[in-house]
Amino acid sequence: MTVLPPEAEWRHRPGMDGLLKALDVTDGKARFVGGAVRDGLLGLPVNDVDIATTIVPHDVLDRLNAAGIKAVPTGIDHGTITAVLADGPVEITTLRQDVSTDGRRATIAYTENWRDDAARRDFTINALYADPLTGEISDYFGGIADLDARRLRFIGDASARIAEDHLRILRYFRFLARYGDNELDSCAYDACVAAANSLMALSRERIADELLKLLVVAVPVHALTLMVEGGILQPVLPEVDMAGVVRVEALIRREAQAGLTGAALRRLAALLPHDPTLADNVGARLKLSNKARKRLIVALEPAPEAETPRALAYRVGLEGAIDRLLLAQDQSLSALDLLEGWTPPVLPIGGGALIARGLPAGPDVAKALQAVQRRWVAEDFPDAERVGAIADQIVSKFQRARQ
Ligand code: ATP
Ligand code: MG
Repeated sequence: MTVLPPEAEWRHRPGMDGLLKALDVTDGKARFVGGAVRDGLLGLPVNDVDIATTIVPHDVLDRLNAAGIKAVPTGIDHGTITAVLADGPVEITTLRQDVSTDGRRATIAYTENWRDDAARRDFTINALYADPLTGEISDYFGGIADLDARRLRFIGDASARIAEDHLRILRYFRFLARYGDNELDSCAYDACVAAANSLMALSRERIADELLKLLVVAVPVHALTLMVEGGILQPVLPEVDMAGVVRVEALIRREAQAGLTGAALRRLAALLPHDPTLADNVGARLKLSNKARKRLIVALEPAPEAETPRALAYRVGLEGAIDRLLLAQDQSLSALDLLEGWTPPVLPIGGGALIARGLPAGPDVAKALQAVQRRWVAEDFPDAERVGAIADQIVSKFQRARQ
């Protein structure tokens, strides 16, 4: 019998016992499911915890309220209530089965049958349930054997499961990148390739969300290669080619050498051709937030010549500078050392100080201030005393020019 390691940190989070009690675990009404069970069995860290329950959503809500647990009906229409515990949210979903599907959304019905709930999940390794009290695993589709063999397998026929929900194409490659480093299931792969065009029917937000999750996997290179070879991204991101995958591979090497964790948007920047206009276009197409779009553009902007790492960080921000230095394969990584523990400072002088030095108020003040700033950046951000001296010189220069 396989059991979940009892010592797993997430099983002992504050509030978890109370939550399980409210869901009547002693009576077998709730089980852990999904990523927490899968990663728990592998001894990997777990962030999000999912619980499956036979209790219907409104009853879950009432029980949590009665137990004084903060509950948010995040997806009550499809059966999900989120319990907010101190260490993170726990999603509680009533056992469901799909009644009808159209590739984008499903009409569902609640059930009390665990196997039916398992059958509507995507991959065998994602359909493992653990009894919260004993840790005992329920495995209806051979998920444990697949997890041991690092084999990613759809539950049922791959084409049929992709037709029900096209997002599973991208999920296939994401989970392949994370868990499937052995024998590729060519039927599943062929099914993904054949259905690639159906990704067009999905909302761009869902595509972007999955793609970014895929990119941030430790080593997504093999999965990305398979995607490019199979034309999976062609319908949504035709600009991605093998050269992009090679750039992602180089970036991952540099992230590791620099001891930095991978960032999804930085990796997306590597995947795209070096063109900020196109990056903005992709950002808009994927409906990324303005902040994310800006990060992509900054990462891919051509660098002005001869800019020090700190000058770059001052101009585009620390995050943008780190992205750029990691993406520029010809740059030595030692440039990053200059940014370590450094925060871009604020120019320690304002227009008022220039006026106090005798510069008449007016448009010259802004221009002179810019000149001071340029010199301050070029001199690698000296202290206020030196900035005072720079200001004296610049003000004199402006005064001479006016005479
Ligand atoms: P992660 O570590 O990325 O959170 P996860 O397995 O928990 O991995 P989620 O996207 O959080 O993945 O989904 C939770 C569970 O819900 C999955 O394990 C799977 O059983 C089921 N699931 C999610 N999305 C789908 C889908 N599109 N089709 C079928 N089942 C799905
Ligand atoms: Mg999850």
